[in-house]
Amino acid sequence: MPGALPGEAPLTDHLVDPHTPRGLNAFIAGLPKAELHVHHVGSASPRIVSELAARHPDSKVPTDPGALVDYFTFTDFAHFIEVYLSVVDLIRTPEDVRLLTYEVARDLARQQVRYAELTITPFSSTRRGIDEAAFMDAIEDARKAAEAEFGTMLRWCFDIPGEAGLEAAEETTRLATDDRLRPEGLVSFGLGGPEVGVPRPQFKPYFDRAIAAGLRSVPHAGETTGPETVWDALTHLRAERIGHGTSSAQDEKLLAHLAEHRVALEVCPTSNIATRAVRTLDEHPIKEFTRAGVLVTINSDDPPMFGTDLNNEYAVAARLLDLDERGLADLAGNAVEASFLDAAGKARIKDEIDAYTSGWLAS
Ligand SMILES: [Zn+2]
Repeated sequence: MPGALPGEAPLTDHLVDPHTPRGLNAFIAGLPKAELHVHHVGSASPRIVSELAARHPDSKVPTDPGALVDYFTFTDFAHFIEVYLSVVDLIRTPEDVRLLTYEVARDLARQQVRYAELTITPFSSTRRGIDEAAFMDAIEDARKAAEAEFGTMLRWCFDIPGEAGLEAAEETTRLATDDRLRPEGLVSFGLGGPEVGVPRPQFKPYFDRAIAAGLRSVPHAGETTGPETVWDALTHLRAERIGHGTSSAQDEKLLAHLAEHRVALEVCPTSNIATRAVRTLDEHPIKEFTRAGVLVTINSDDPPMFGTDLNNEYAVAARLLDLDERGLADLAGNAVEASFLDAAGKARIKDEIDAYTSGWLAS
């Protein structure tokens, strides 16, 4: 979920980028990719939501996928939150958690995503009474099944829902660091929710504990606030990548720091427009990031909720950065590079990207 946002933004006027040449879209569709910033519940497509709604007929969420497309057409940000929470309400049992996770992996695999770090907010589920050990078993079971059946590797980022305060921070840290609970696929620790009125430094003790337990730091920062929040994330939370980091473009010194230390930005262009973090795609600072030498990765955030998917985000990036096939392959390589995969895993996906691109250009 994105950060705190102004109230009246229409959320439906962005969608599939019509400007990318057809051939480039076909190239993107087959390009092996890594996805580093995508939320668990926020990835529930109408197909998945209809399955969950059918399991819980008392919910007001429609079960017909056609009706769900209308249901997912947001009139304003308050409506978006309402719909998001109604989907959260469908995740009631460990079996719901497993179904959601496994089906999200299927949607990723269809886009040739070979590796994804999925941001999960376990606090939302444990607070609702789902048994914590059963929750961990459900995501791990889905992870193993997805890798075996779809060939897509999933890893987890457990994030603190910032709006839920330090109680949520404590609970998330406990779930992420308790050896009896911590799932095998967990690689990183994040912080989401609103940034305005939720200063990053207060989360330092929780990030310290997570980092001491071997997790990597990947907070959201600078999505709806200025570059000082990104500095806070770097200084206090020891961020290794930044979720969004949009406002970094306002600070040359920060851009230079990100570039020098290879701190990648997880850029989610359509999300930034949908939430009004950026006014229009043409005004998106992604060009400033690449010009400054920052490692840019392309991601989808809450794709069905923003009427997008990872392939469409690559198409948007191709237009904004004027990329051809090689440029897109480099962009896909950036995400592999900035991922928390081991060296052999990175090399395998990079080789696959190279082979795909050479084959495409030769044909
Ligand atoms: Zn996010």
